[in-house]
Amino acid sequence: MEILLATGNAHKKEELERILAPHRILIPSDIRVEFDPDETGDTYLENALIKARALFESSGGRPVLADDSGLSVPAMKGAPGVYSARYGSDEAGRELESRERNALLIEKMQGFEGSRRQAFFVCCMVLIIDEYRVFTAQETFNGYITDEPSGRGGFGYDPIFFIPELQKTVAELDAGEKDRISHRGRAGLRIRALIDNLDAVQ
Ligand code: IMP
Repeated sequence: MEILLATGNAHKKEELERILAPHRILIPSDIRVEFDPDETGDTYLENALIKARALFESSGGRPVLADDSGLSVPAMKGAPGVYSARYGSDEAGRELESRERNALLIEKMQGFEGSRRQAFFVCCMVLIIDEYRVFTAQETFNGYITDEPSGRGGFGYDPIFFIPELQKTVAELDAGEKDRISHRGRAGLRIRALIDNLDAVQ
């Protein structure tokens, strides 16, 4: 199946191409459609629905998948959470680069030790097949925030997200390893199973 992914994030496209293979993933720029909806929701699900519906409309009703994700630190009242992509931009007056967001989070967590460094990623996916056939899956990925970045793979908060079982940050994993255990990998598997099942229950 050909699926339009409601994102401009090339890293998400790359990950979902692997996770949803052999299904074909396109992003809005591939079909020359403008895509910049306001993510005004208070939850991952609301934002994923906003993105999926916006692209479903502007693409003339093609099958669409949206991914809304972020990182939460319970000891920081769940921040940055749904605001992960915009973390620190109010104070800075501009959108920060990933490297700057990571440095800011590490700075805000100075003095946090042990379980207070626990964090988790969340990924919510919404799949719209047609106007009345809408599916969703949401998954998590647990780890700890390091006190300095390490590794060159992945994107976003990956260099500061440490997995104790592997003794590595996500940015030190190879792509396949990240897919097997990540929030996006796990939500994507559920969506792939759903897509693969569509024909069987039509
Ligand atoms: P979204 O594009 O609105 O869903 O924003 C998600 C933000 O959360 C991204 O910009 C990243 O900063 C962060 N994020 C989500 N998933 C990951 C991941 O797999 N690794 C690292 N950071 C992530």
